[in-house]
Amino acid sequence: MERTLVLIKPDGVKRRLVGRIFQRFEEKGLRIAALKLMNVSRPMAEEHYSVHRDKPFFRSLVDYITSGPVVAAVLEGSNAIAVVRKMCGATDGSKAEPGTIRGDFSMGIEKNIIHASDSHEAYEHEYRIFFRDEEILNYECGDEHIIY
Ligand code: GDP
Repeated sequence: MERTLVLIKPDGVKRRLVGRIFQRFEEKGLRIAALKLMNVSRPMAEEHYSVHRDKPFFRSLVDYITSGPVVAAVLEGSNAIAVVRKMCGATDGSKAEPGTIRGDFSMGIEKNIIHASDSHEAYEHEYRIFFRDEEILNYECGDEHIIY
């Protein structure tokens, strides 16, 4: 099983989309291994988006992700990183396919509802910013033999 980090960004939380988005992940067969509502500090945001430090939108991105609460989660499942990225859709909501989270709920390139790790290395970097290891729970839902 693979883990991935998901953030419902402040626009997703303020638009009350948290439940609908997590319903999609649960229906798909992903397991919630960790979950919290939290404010992101500027140092956390700068670390999370450190690969974008030299981009012109970096400051705006940090302002945005620290502008209100986010929901952080670790989701687990077979091939979870690629599966969740596909469910999120293209970065620019106005170009994302209908049926994806961004395609259905976003019109923006910055305010695009959700973040999801794009590689195992990114997950290893990102999850530590939001969770302690003991906050990520190991348990079985009991239907894994039907889902896989
Ligand atoms: P993601 O992996 O699809 O989230 O996209 P990236 O890793 O390329 O970018 C990280 C985040 O930066 C995106 O989710 C957007 O919120 C924001 N972003 C990306 N490209 C742009 C841009 O051209 N302008 C602005 N303002 N924000 C951007």
